[in-house]
Amino acid sequence: MTSDDWKATNRHLQILKAANEGQYGVLAAIAYNIEQILGLVRAAEKARSPLILQFFPWAIKFSDGLLIRTAADAARRATVPISIHLDHAQEEEIIKRAADELPFDSIMVDMSHFDKEENLAKTAQWVKYCNERRIATEAEPGRIEGGEDGVMDTVGLEASKTTPEEVEQFVATGVDALAPAFGNVHGEYGPQGPQLDFERYLYITYRLALVKKQLDNRAIIALHGTNGFPPDLMRRCIEAGATKINVNRITLDDYYAHLRAARTVHKPHTTVMEEGVEKVIHLTVKWMEILGSTGKAPPV
Ligand SMILES: [Zn+2]
Repeated sequence: MTSDDWKATNRHLQILKAANEGQYGVLAAIAYNIEQILGLVRAAEKARSPLILQFFPWAIKFSDGLLIRTAADAARRATVPISIHLDHAQEEEIIKRAADELPFDSIMVDMSHFDKEENLAKTAQWVKYCNERRIATEAEPGRIEGGEDGVMDTVGLEASKTTPEEVEQFVATGVDALAPAFGNVHGEYGPQGPQLDFERYLYITYRLALVKKQLDNRAIIALHGTNGFPPDLMRRCIEAGATKINVNRITLDDYYAHLRAARTVHKPHTTVMEEGVEKVIHLTVKWMEILGSTGKAPPV
């Protein structure tokens, strides 16, 4: 019995391993409230797809952990595999709280705001801390630029890209997923967006494929910064090796449009909530189809 045997039964790692082997992507979808949790879980059941429900540290602070416990309850009751992940945990206090007190299957120990050596050293330290509590980990070698809901904003795109050396060093920490910085950014891509820039497509998928080749199945690739990604770019990123597909706006856009529209119409609050859940289900099912995860959940 080795100390890593728990990894075989960790829900998050089971989901990622199956997707990596099956060469499809799994949505790692951010949720901010109960309607979104309900919508994402029901979408996964409808599509018979695995799902990763993820939260920013904001959700822990805002709800005093309630949203995480609620999501874990929904995941346990679901008829498809669903894991609970903490995205971009950058403060040591929040990592401790998440690992010690909350039902996370996986935590992104994001030390990318430190310089390269410190990023690596602190990542190794927190991977160990989480693993001792049977929690899987994700880390960010290099630095993905941009800011997103409390995630620190950084600048200087070129110097921050993940190098082959860093991939080796981070894999050696025992981290389960890597979020490489290869030209992707957090938040919005600006007026041109990634959709019009085919050179950018090629660049992104080429660099992803290089990282994938180097990983040799010792860790999986988490794709960050997908706001505004059109379906064909998403598919190409999965073909190039991305497995965990972090999404925020692309599964929630219709929900927010619905809320904006509801301001001018007089409907019962409960109706607005129920319709909001349907919006999340509809868009999420669509993306599961694009990622290739539809029907991949084991039969009930
Ligand atoms: Zn990210």
